[in-house]
Amino acid sequence: MPDAGANSSNDGAHKTDVIIIGGGPVGLFAVFELGLLGLSAHVVDILDRPGGQCAELYPEKVILDIPSRLKITGAELCNELMAQIAPFNPTFHFQQMAEKLEKLETGHWRIATDIGTVIEAPVVVIAGGGGSFMPKKPKLDRLEEFEGKSLFYAVRRMDQFRGLNVLIAGGGDSALDWTVNLSPFVAGMSLVHRRNEFRGMQVTVDQMYALVNTGKVNLAIGDILRLNGEGGQLKSVTLKSTEKGEFDVACDAMLAFYGLTMKLGPIANWGLNMDTNRVAVSTETFETSTPGIFCIGDMCHYPGKLKLILSGFHESALMAHACFHYARPNQKLRFEHTTSSSAIQAKLGVP
Ligand SMILES: Cc1cc2nc3c(=O)[nH]c(=O)nc-3n(C[C@H](O)[C@H](O)[C@H](O)COP(=O)(O)OP(=O)(O)OC[C@H]3O[C@@H](n4cnc5c(N)ncnc54)[C@H](O)[C@@H]3O)c2cc1C
Repeated sequence: MPDAGANSSNDGAHKTDVIIIGGGPVGLFAVFELGLLGLSAHVVDILDRPGGQCAELYPEKVILDIPSRLKITGAELCNELMAQIAPFNPTFHFQQMAEKLEKLETGHWRIATDIGTVIEAPVVVIAGGGGSFMPKKPKLDRLEEFEGKSLFYAVRRMDQFRGLNVLIAGGGDSALDWTVNLSPFVAGMSLVHRRNEFRGMQVTVDQMYALVNTGKVNLAIGDILRLNGEGGQLKSVTLKSTEKGEFDVACDAMLAFYGLTMKLGPIANWGLNMDTNRVAVSTETFETSTPGIFCIGDMCHYPGKLKLILSGFHESALMAHACFHYARPNQKLRFEHTTSSSAIQAKLGVP
């Protein structure tokens, strides 16, 4: 759903106070913090919906460290952030990559996306998380034939796998988590890894072995040689190991978890100071080395940075206050609590 509700000016460029690159949890909460200060935002994301990693990688997993929420799934967090920012009416430009950054004579910034959307604003906030994250794919013939039909790299809906014979490939957290979480729903579950050692959290490794011991999970050790099936429908996967030689593991669906490549993408070419492949920022303002360009969430780097959602929420608040001076250079910013500001309460529709 590209360009939901966008308004454009005569020259075709959208005008706003702040352009946010990335609609993950941190980009969404940034809309809220900016909105509290009266600043409007346009959000660009390559994905087809908001939520970043929470929506794409673990929508049904439970997050336990969002303050005051005993537990909340990735999808619920995205939905509630969307509800929280709704009063500020942000414009989303989905399914497009922020590609070009240009400084205008006015001092404002122009962002152009790979499908030609142009947005101008005095401030750009990069909330690009892991960047254009793409699954690492196994080097196997016929991958494309099965991809999206019976071979997947993420679990969008657990229900999609209900009653199927599922094969999970990989040895890290995602492979182990999904082996444990999906096994109650599926008709059969095989976990395939090239050696009998796993990189995941010990508690999940133990849970997986417990399922193997009760016969609920078939643990197959070996290298995947071939995908077998027709018309996009997998029937089995051929493995090879030193002990067993070549052997087939039957499956209706395969989930391959070989990790993600996290590429900064075009942002790496925008001339910003980088640190350990992320964007270096000041911890007072979350401004980058380029005035007027800010970076928050997983994509920013500073000493002690933790890639946590709550860290990104904190960064959003400080960033918004610093952005205000660019977007409203002639206005004074008054700090207000939401509990006592009738102006904020009116904006949020609180009676
Ligand atoms: C399996 C798993 C479990 C996790 N569990 C927890 C947990 O329990 N608690 C916790 O706090 N954190 C957890 N995390 C980490 C948490 O998800 C991240 O810290 C959080 O998603 C970072 O949010 P973000 O908005 O900075 O980035 P992201 O969620 O990565 O969103 C960034 C968005 O930017 C977009 N983007 C990037 N570059 C461009 C571009 N050039 N143009 C357009 N769009 C672009 C991407 O498509 C993406 O949607 C977990 C992560 C994983 C993978």
